[in-house]
Amino acid sequence: MGGWVDESAPFIPPFTPLLLHPSPPLPHLPPFPKNRAPTLETLDFDVVIIGGGPAGCSCALYTARASLKTVILDKNPAVGALAITHKIANYPGVAGDVSGETLLEVMRQQAVDFGAVYQRSQVYSLDLDGEVKQVYTPEGIFRGRALVLATGAMGRTATFRGEAEFLGRGVSYCATCDGAFYRDRAVAVIGNNTEALEEAQVLTKFANTVHWVTFKEVLAADDHAQSLLGHPAVKHWPRSRLLAIAGNDSGVTGIEVRTKTAKDPVALPVDGVFIYQNGSKPITDFVGDQVAYNSDGGVQVDAMMATSVEGVWAVGDIRNTPFKQAVVAAGDGCIAAMAIDRFLNSRKGIRPDWDHG
Ligand SMILES: Cc1cc2nc3c(=O)[nH]c(=O)nc-3n(C[C@H](O)[C@H](O)[C@H](O)COP(=O)(O)OP(=O)(O)OC[C@H]3O[C@@H](n4cnc5c(N)ncnc54)[C@H](O)[C@@H]3O)c2cc1C
Repeated sequence: MGGWVDESAPFIPPFTPLLLHPSPPLPHLPPFPKNRAPTLETLDFDVVIIGGGPAGCSCALYTARASLKTVILDKNPAVGALAITHKIANYPGVAGDVSGETLLEVMRQQAVDFGAVYQRSQVYSLDLDGEVKQVYTPEGIFRGRALVLATGAMGRTATFRGEAEFLGRGVSYCATCDGAFYRDRAVAVIGNNTEALEEAQVLTKFANTVHWVTFKEVLAADDHAQSLLGHPAVKHWPRSRLLAIAGNDSGVTGIEVRTKTAKDPVALPVDGVFIYQNGSKPITDFVGDQVAYNSDGGVQVDAMMATSVEGVWAVGDIRNTPFKQAVVAAGDGCIAAMAIDRFLNSRKGIRPDWDHG
């Protein structure tokens, strides 16, 4: 076994991982505390990686193998670019028909086997001031001496009328983060992908009405969709599309929907609108202007994948490289991990992660 860890390097003291599970089952619906405020526990790591795609998992594999205490925070293992890839045939060393989801499962498990903690959690903001970076999630505050941004480029540009105007004032992309604000109120969920289904299910715990607007009919064979439809708070609008989001100074007041049956658009009074439609924009909303960006919106990095902020790296599609490929993302993760080891252990050079001796 090779290694490149300096045992004398300072280490954050261990903690009791109350919320964390190193090798969790991946349920179809996200775990969420029922009808109670999220626990804002503070958990310390050497390396906090945001995003569980090939970039984040490969980075975690290397940092965990280097004995750096590593956590991967991942919004949802089923919604990243690799996770939704039906078939991938050009990942080196993996021949034949393999789905992106299966390949990703292997990468994630490999990182966990080397000691990384995988935590399902959507990051909603960061504090990059100081040596220890703080990462805010509904499950708690994760602190790291090194932080890696690996959230990919499946973000959306606001396209619906009113979406940009009311973003953060009733328009949201995260029910797990914002759902509790809508207790006993009416909300709408737009979209029919895995994320939309899971987030709508979260909202049924709070809202008294969840208007679910889908462009297509829902398949009878889709058990999760059918279970959502069976919930008394859910009102489904199939073969319908969102036309506009309306509101006033206090935020969203309703939406306008084109339905399959009504001649005129239908107005639905809601206080919140949760939109789940994929785009191709780097996901950086939780970062804000705390790091420098390229003119195309990708996070700016140097050859070691370091961002403009010391102690923060960015890997994979979030860089908006012209070559968005799983192997490139994984390579980025490896480079960042080796640079992080050098940074945390104040190495002059990088020692390889192998030893034939
Ligand atoms: C349809 C399609 C087909 C493709 N086919 C191929 C192919 O055949 N071969 C190939 O090499 N590449 C292919 N690609 C490209 C490849 O999938 C991507 O380049 C690669 O997945 C990028 O990896 P990533 O880790 O940067 O991002 P992603 O794989 O997108 O992973 C990002 C992760 O971040 C998580 N995340 C997002 N926001 C948050 C947040 N706020 N908090 C916590 N977690 C968050 C997501 O849940 C996700 O798990 C394809 C892409 C698409 C869309």
